[in-house]
Amino acid sequence: MKHNITLIPGDGIGPEVTTATVKILEKSGVCINWEIVRMGAEVIEEFGTPMPPYVLESIKKNKVALKGPVTTPVGKGFKSVNVTLRQELNLYANIRPIRTFEGVPSRFENVDLIIVRENSEDLYAGIEHMITEDIAESIKIISKKASDRIVEYAFKIAKEQNRKEVIAVHKANIMKLSDGLFLRCARNIAGTHKDIAFYDVIVDAMSMKLVMNPEKYDVLVMPNLYGDILSDMAAGLVGGLGLVPGANIGEEGAVFEPAHGSAPDIAGKNIANPTACILSSVMMLRHIGEAKAANKIEQAVVAVLKEGKHLTCDLGGTTGTIEFTQVVIDKMLEQTN
Ligand code: ATP
Repeated sequence: MKHNITLIPGDGIGPEVTTATVKILEKSGVCINWEIVRMGAEVIEEFGTPMPPYVLESIKKNKVALKGPVTTPVGKGFKSVNVTLRQELNLYANIRPIRTFEGVPSRFENVDLIIVRENSEDLYAGIEHMITEDIAESIKIISKKASDRIVEYAFKIAKEQNRKEVIAVHKANIMKLSDGLFLRCARNIAGTHKDIAFYDVIVDAMSMKLVMNPEKYDVLVMPNLYGDILSDMAAGLVGGLGLVPGANIGEEGAVFEPAHGSAPDIAGKNIANPTACILSSVMMLRHIGEAKAANKIEQAVVAVLKEGKHLTCDLGGTTGTIEFTQVVIDKMLEQTN
């Protein structure tokens, strides 16, 4: 079967890591017709906006996108393109699997957790204003609908992946109404999934527990801002942002993208680690029913990292993006034969 998929190369290291990923997908045996869509700073002059209408049209039509990081120009009055994309497509769930890899230097072993981040509201609703010249106010929105939906999604993932427990992360002791509502919703939804253990942890305590014993945790579900912070922090526990994939799931489509940003400091130097983007495409393949190809790619990446001979700079090696990609392809073909 041929899949129509939107490809957003993005900026910074985006084009390098997406090119690497597309090459690997091509060799995996899946048949993809890519619709390449440009967005971000590079199109502002031409279209007057970093996100021209064709971006949403393409994703709404194809229902699936693979996206490199896109930076929103600061101070030019444009709303974050990533937040806009999530809101316009109602991509309500952000999923970030965080795991250790044998062969990758890390202080921990056997970490295998999933952060399920609410993606549509909280302080990201973008409602803020100046009360006086010296006082600004940002409004945190938490709704029953979005909280129920994200917790339900966390349990769905837990079931699909044979996970044992779901933890709701919050700060309901201080934000009694907003986080209090999230927590009430989480407890109610958990009550309908008796086969999976559930408890809740306050976000500051959760941060401490995660940096001490990340291997103890399974599925964590939380409002938007805590998810943003804890997922970057958890990435640091397993070897850095270059390893962490992500999926944004919604009713109108799904956008798969690495957890990292555009890393302009290393762009164009052939040193970016494409693993996060490759593993995002693995999540994408599972989403579109191509589990066999997904497993093949994932096994090849795991094997290459485990050998430890071809690691990118961020992991202490010297292998370039292009060379790493070729090593993964060779490993994948070797495993297939
Ligand atoms: P954003 O605000 O868009 O999330 P950021 O500035 O917080 O972006 P990133 O761009 O994600 O952060 O990256 C932070 C640093 O981590 C980069 O400057 C880079 O040095 C390193 N980094 C991120 N992604 C990768 C990668 N794929 N390979 C190697 N190093 C990376």
